[in-house]
Amino acid sequence: MSSPSITAPAGSVRPPAPDRRKPGTPRAMPLLAALLTLCIFVTDTFSPLNFAVAVLYVIVVVMAAGFCSRRGLLAVSAGCVALTLLSYMLTHMLSITDSATLRGLVSVAAITVTTLLVLRNHAATTALSEQARLLDLTHDAILVRTLDDTVTYWNRGAEELYGWTKAAVAGRTATDLLQTQFPLSRAAAMETLMQTDRWEGVLVHARRDGPPATVASRWSLERNERGQPVSILEINTDITDHVRAQEALNRAQAELAHANRVMTMGELTASIAHEVNQPLAAIVTNAETSLRWLARAEPQIGEARAAIERVVSDGRRASEVIWRLRALFRKTDETKALLTLNSVIEDTLPLVERELFSHQVILQTSFDPEPPAVQGDRTQLQQVVMNLVVNAMQAMSQQAGDQQTGDHQTGGLPRRLTVRSLRQEDGQARVEVQDSGPGMPPDGAERLFEAFFTTKPTGMGMGLSICRSIVEAHGGRIWLAETSPRGSVLAFSLPPAEEENAA
Ligand code: ADP
Repeated sequence: MSSPSITAPAGSVRPPAPDRRKPGTPRAMPLLAALLTLCIFVTDTFSPLNFAVAVLYVIVVVMAAGFCSRRGLLAVSAGCVALTLLSYMLTHMLSITDSATLRGLVSVAAITVTTLLVLRNHAATTALSEQARLLDLTHDAILVRTLDDTVTYWNRGAEELYGWTKAAVAGRTATDLLQTQFPLSRAAAMETLMQTDRWEGVLVHARRDGPPATVASRWSLERNERGQPVSILEINTDITDHVRAQEALNRAQAELAHANRVMTMGELTASIAHEVNQPLAAIVTNAETSLRWLARAEPQIGEARAAIERVVSDGRRASEVIWRLRALFRKTDETKALLTLNSVIEDTLPLVERELFSHQVILQTSFDPEPPAVQGDRTQLQQVVMNLVVNAMQAMSQQAGDQQTGDHQTGGLPRRLTVRSLRQEDGQARVEVQDSGPGMPPDGAERLFEAFFTTKPTGMGMGLSICRSIVEAHGGRIWLAETSPRGSVLAFSLPPAEEENAA
């Protein structure tokens, strides 16, 4: 049994790549054509037959189409016409008859018409073979198979991807050759193809040598003019490397997500440690005060009670801070309400009043008379103001001359802290905290808001990083507005809330 040609797919799928060199043409064909030409010429010229023998030149023209180019064919055709005319002249030079002339004309017409038809066929074949050649240029593997899965076309891309040559796959079934692994099953893919004339999905195919290939496969069903399915055109794009890279990316993302969670936990722990420091210090101070009132010869119950009440409220505040920080890291909105930044500042300053006093800081405030309402978490925003105020206070106290002398004048300037609220031109609510400290350290301006950046011997570098997380979680921004050896201004702004009725 001869193996089917794999360059001539069944059905109406366009046959890719008919061979331009016509390999099926026997090598002796030009010789045979020449011999035939000679026979026709001799018969036409010397036989007494009253028959248009020259018509037989059409056979020569058809034979020449098998091995000649377009130009060669025209030359052969012209030669045949010339031989017809030569015979006519040699035979009828002396006695021209109407019937002989008619026979001559019929022969010339037959040769001309045949040449035209052959040329047209030649042009169509050339166009088709050009198109078919393009199919060999693509990197995709293209194959055509019959409904019983026999491969009838196999392009160069398929040869390169799978390692089998066209000759090797002739007559074999695609499933057997490629050991196709379907996402569901072959039957399911065929069912979709029959219903919609299309199927696409990801397949795994065996290769002749080497590991299996993962391909994005697209199938199209070809039907004949009666609508019956005849063959399947399959285009497979190799996505093995892409799938491998995607898997690596997924693994990296999973690891990154894990690292992120670990980092968030680390930051949360550090933030809690940083933020509860202040209420804890207040608790200890108030508890000690209370003990002192009680230790008097005549215990001052009232004063002691007041100090213990402050312990309770600081304790509550510490637990509230922890709870709100967890909310911040969980990125939840549930703790937000309408408020003004004026009220946030007013709530915060009493919490640091004592420390400001002990550091001999002169506090000035300036409030926006018509503050815009913002949607915010009061405790978290208090933390922002508190961190900015504490930083300003620490910056002013850390000045060298100041520590040595105990003088609250820094380089001749008083320790002055200004907290102001204002409405920006774009309607956002802004808070500024200005100090008369030494200004930012040299690389501080860029790294200020990074977690764990600190220049203080006992600092954690979390305060401003927490501030930024809180402000950004509120849709706002925080920045260093000014810094010089005479002091710094840190500012944050928040977008106004939609409704304006804030507490
Ligand atoms: P910490 O206070 O624990 O160091 P922060 O994140 O609050 O952490 O601050 C980071 C650093 O920014 C500080 O160590 C300090 O160098 C600098 N800094 C912050 N605020 C001021 C300020 N008002 N003046 C000068 N330096 C400041």
